[in-house]
Amino acid sequence: MNDRIEAVGRRVLVFCASSGSCDPVFHAAAAVLGRDLARAGHTIVYGGGAVGSMGALADAALAEGGRVVGIIPRFMREREWAHTGISELQLVDDMQQRKRRMLESADAIVTLPGGSGTFEELFEALTSKRLGLFPKPIVIVNQAGFYDPLFTLLGRSVEERFMHDAHLAMWHAVDRVEDVLLAIEAAAPWPEDAIGFATR
Ligand code: AMP
Repeated sequence: MNDRIEAVGRRVLVFCASSGSCDPVFHAAAAVLGRDLARAGHTIVYGGGAVGSMGALADAALAEGGRVVGIIPRFMREREWAHTGISELQLVDDMQQRKRRMLESADAIVTLPGGSGTFEELFEALTSKRLGLFPKPIVIVNQAGFYDPLFTLLGRSVEERFMHDAHLAMWHAVDRVEDVLLAIEAAAPWPEDAIGFATR
């Protein structure tokens, strides 16, 4: 299989919830993001799911004629979790390969509220950025203050000197999904020598 992701515009990788049970305001925000990215001419790369915020994101982008690429492990497709109407579905062997391919393909990352899967993907991206392996923008959508406890924890980690002050610039937080595109454009470049201060 060709694992290169053909794109129009930027390849914006979105991490978001699979849950269909959360407050529908989170699905609505995912749909706004899908619509805005498609209208701006960007390609959405995501986990390939059909339900929850993932499905809302993909459906809204497709409705605008956007390009949506899903990357999903085979076992999830066997459970019929994959969206069957997206522009391209790439099948991978496992979660590790999926995350690797997602990061390799992304020009920017957006993280919406979600559960453990979303957190895992976000933290892999942050750790890769800290090590200088992924220098691209990472935007966290702090809808309804959802990520406030995470920012408190990350701040505490800096206070305790598990991380350096400079690491607070690895992500850009926005309160509203409507501000994502601007945040991607405005993101400060990440130093090429980030590995040099990864453990400071
Ligand atoms: P969570 O936030 O725990 O719902 O996990 C969402 C993330 O994990 C997504 O970005 C996907 O990459 C992956 N994931 C979890 N559940 C599913 C699913 N049902 N279908 C596709 N991907 C999923």
